[in-house]
Amino acid sequence: MRVCREEIISALNAPDFTEYFKKADAMRREAVGDIVHLRAIIEFSNHCFRNCAYCGLNCKNKSLKRYRMEPEEIISCGKEACSAGYKTLVLQSGEDKFYTKEIIGQIVQELTSCGVTVTLSCGERTDDEYAYWRDCGAKRYLLKHETADSNLYADLHPGYTLSERLSCLEAIKKLGYETGSGFMIGLPGECAESIADNIILLDKLDCDMAGIGPFIPHPETEMRNHKAGSVTITQKAVSLIRILRPHMNLPATTALGVRNKEAYTEAFSRGANVLMKKVTPAKYRSLYEIYPTEIKIADIRDERASLCEFIKSLGRIPE
Ligand code: SF4
Repeated sequence: MRVCREEIISALNAPDFTEYFKKADAMRREAVGDIVHLRAIIEFSNHCFRNCAYCGLNCKNKSLKRYRMEPEEIISCGKEACSAGYKTLVLQSGEDKFYTKEIIGQIVQELTSCGVTVTLSCGERTDDEYAYWRDCGAKRYLLKHETADSNLYADLHPGYTLSERLSCLEAIKKLGYETGSGFMIGLPGECAESIADNIILLDKLDCDMAGIGPFIPHPETEMRNHKAGSVTITQKAVSLIRILRPHMNLPATTALGVRNKEAYTEAFSRGANVLMKKVTPAKYRSLYEIYPTEIKIADIRDERASLCEFIKSLGRIPE
């Protein structure tokens, strides 16, 4: 279904959004049921050669201690998450060429052979790399576009363009990956029109997943004094995407939870059907800080068990 820009703008400007929230919940139930998918995230490297204006991992942040997990360490962490009950692993990193096509391919092969689904989130790479990892068994790829405004994109990502980003997303989709993108709420110049453009871009790319999170300022970035994104607008965007593309996988994003725990919980009754949980080893956890966040470390099994209880308390089914 093609989505209509005017309809999105008018919904976002509506004085009362209650009916849209209810509709999103009903459509979620009808299209994807009551299951909430739990995804385990392993942040395997915080090295990054890019300088995104909003991100604490940007290469100009010299105060950050950098780490790289060894391939064996990533595999063992993935296997532990698997044995704790996670069925999907998200391998995420900064843009770090240390991990070659072959290294990542070998990690993907090892993990998929344990029966787990592997999602990669390693940034912009070549079509050849994406194809190789797909052949190795990777099923999903996440690459947020962050903003559909090409001028703003260029400002926030010095030296890079939105069209390069979109070419990567198109290549990923063409290779048969379940393709995830997403954008940030609260970037400079935001208005109903810009949010509508982001939603339309997700539709145009035929995305299977989308992460929508509020911007959160990080003190070691040039956007340190910029206001954080609105949690309500984040929820509205998630609901509208659910209504317009009912079968998509939509997480209640970690960033939303950091901004407001109640809004995070509400997101599950406003369109969300995915929960992402960091399982990165404790010694690295505080070093992967795209935005400031509270770090809580618990045993991986206990943590998953309490997440399952949380999901059940919402009348939903954890998977
Ligand atoms: S957003 Fe991603 S690519 Fe940009 S600096 Fe952060 S880790 Fe690197």
